[in-house]
Amino acid sequence: GATRVKTLRLSSPEETHALGVRLGGLLRPGDFVGLIGDLGAGKTHLVRGVAEGAEVPRSEVASPTFAIVYPYSGRIPLYHADLYRLTNYDDLYSTGFLDMVEAGDGASLVEWLDRIPETAPREHLRVILRHAGGDVRELTAEAFGSRSAELLDAWLK
Ligand code: ADP
Ligand code: MG
Repeated sequence: GATRVKTLRLSSPEETHALGVRLGGLLRPGDFVGLIGDLGAGKTHLVRGVAEGAEVPRSEVASPTFAIVYPYSGRIPLYHADLYRLTNYDDLYSTGFLDMVEAGDGASLVEWLDRIPETAPREHLRVILRHAGGDVRELTAEAFGSRSAELLDAWLK
């Protein structure tokens, strides 16, 4: 189970973005963040904030496409993946994403982690977003391992 869990309400897209920016400023190479939540829950919105916080040039954070893996170069490399259209580990393997994660030189952000949960290393942060009426979202962050617990504490003080 998780080492540490925190929950908070996000009442606007701007609030979610700002929380992402804050996380982007804290990420280190080797960190892994899995994002879980229905379509429109705000996973991509949060990741865009993270990219900004990690100093990724705005031009790199493209409008939505059908890519599975999006590598960004910020203060550290960011490896963003969206598993929505994947059903198994082998399909993900063939994208090269797992090699990027394993290289450990960047931080990884994985939308729809629940589709292929074995993508996550033992040490990771799981972020669950839920619709809570209108523009309100409930965010639950679960830390698995000591580095993730430290990251969670720094992020959601
Ligand atoms: P996902 O990647 O989870 O499918 P997106 O981030 O692509 O979701 O889309 C979230 C949508 O919900 C955006 O259109 C965004 O403007 C809207 N939205 C409304 N309220 C919020 C909120 N509090 N946090 C994040 N997004 C929100
Ligand atoms: Mg998305």
